[in-house]
Amino acid sequence: MKFLNLKLTVSYLEHEPIFYDRVEPTPLHKPFLISASQNAAKLLGVDEDLLLDENLLEIVNGKKKLDGSETFAMCYAGHQFGYFVERLGDGRAINLGKVNGQNLQLKGSGLTLYSRQGDGRAVLRSSIREYLMSEAMHGLGIATSRALALIGSDTDVARERWEKGAIVLRLSPTWVRFGTFEYFNAKGEHEKLQQLADYVIDESFHHLKNKEGMYLKMYAEIVSSTAKTIAQWQSVGFNHGVMNTDNMSIDGRTIDYGPFAFLDDYDKDYVCNHTDRDGRYSFKNQPGIAHWNLGQLAVALSPIVNHDSALQVLEDVFGEAYEKVYSEIMYAKMGLEQEEENDRKLFQWMLGALGGATIDYTLFFRKLSRFDGDKSDILDLCVYRTSLEEWLDSYSLRLEKETLSTTSRHKKMLKVNPKYILKNHILQEAIEKAEAHDFSMVNDLLKVALSPFDEHQELEHLCRLAPMESKNIKLSCSS
Ligand code: AMP
Ligand code: MG
Repeated sequence: MKFLNLKLTVSYLEHEPIFYDRVEPTPLHKPFLISASQNAAKLLGVDEDLLLDENLLEIVNGKKKLDGSETFAMCYAGHQFGYFVERLGDGRAINLGKVNGQNLQLKGSGLTLYSRQGDGRAVLRSSIREYLMSEAMHGLGIATSRALALIGSDTDVARERWEKGAIVLRLSPTWVRFGTFEYFNAKGEHEKLQQLADYVIDESFHHLKNKEGMYLKMYAEIVSSTAKTIAQWQSVGFNHGVMNTDNMSIDGRTIDYGPFAFLDDYDKDYVCNHTDRDGRYSFKNQPGIAHWNLGQLAVALSPIVNHDSALQVLEDVFGEAYEKVYSEIMYAKMGLEQEEENDRKLFQWMLGALGGATIDYTLFFRKLSRFDGDKSDILDLCVYRTSLEEWLDSYSLRLEKETLSTTSRHKKMLKVNPKYILKNHILQEAIEKAEAHDFSMVNDLLKVALSPFDEHQELEHLCRLAPMESKNIKLSCSS
């Protein structure tokens, strides 16, 4: 199937106009295609070579429409850094419609009713980050919105310096956010809130339709899918950076990539977002913030879901779902298959030892996936060796209780401990090259992003460690 032959539907527009702004994209000047993800295109049933499709560029630039497409921005509210903002909405994202269960959305395609003081644009730098990270998150097996194409342009966009405008074509089974419910609740629009809930059940929780207590059941599923995603973030060392309720997808997937970062050296207190002075969205706070955000969602749903019941569900489901997923992944990352009494202690000791050793989180686990008793390979990566040396001695003893052969253990561990994650200093290099019109690194990164557990020997420079000066740096929110 060719991209141009897709036929879209736009059921969101069946709601009253308070839900959205019907708006046309504003095309960029002199646009050019930078990259396209064949892997994401498969979700739509598109199998042509996208780079050869002469229509893709015009569609992403908003110059040409797909069949059935009607464009609109969605309205939502949200808690930003703990404070409620009664109307946010897609300030620079424009929806095209839906096909194959995926909602197509352009990010950076101009002003909407919800742009407030913004210009409706996204710069090349942040668009490369969103494009690659969407695909990388998928490659890591974590639920996320996807990115099908990235275009650049000659349109000037003012940020701290002049930059160029870009657009990412994003896909998601839903673009409804916690904040979408908060919008209607805050306005006292209870009928519309219920309409939205019915829409969300149709779109994302169809198996609950017409079941008794379906809204509470929907909430319980949102709680558990959110907990799962956050547990997965923690396991790979991902710091989202802007966990406002308007950036929380109603189906728990990761959305809205801004100043995100992966941990370099393991540091649980790391805060990737430069504007987050209090560290509200620090790495270690992410599970607690997700819980808080889910509490806000319970408030927003209170006209249709008994608040006490929702809070009870939150308490019953979140912690257990989070712990289950997190511990399963972490024990797999450690190569522990048998359950032993002291495993939890060994695990907690490991995190403490990692913190004390000053060692790259991702590389540690990749090296551990080949650990055969020779500690030097790992210890040589540490600034301070003692804490991890003692831990590795204990870990070696613990491994003796495993029944799997060393080779089989290594093989399994290499499938859960990625070699490639999108480190900021690598992304930065790709961005600088792209700003000079060399897009090769963006495309190389796409390749490793989609299969991060494979060796890709020819691309090993893409998993280089961060140089001292850019380790665990903070990123500006401007995008
Ligand atoms: P974010 O924290 O990036 O998710 O953005 C928060 C809100 O600001 C959302 O409603 C965005 O659509 C909006 N926004 C961010 N950047 C811009 C921009 N350049 N122009 C218009 N709206 C924007
Ligand atoms: Mg957002």
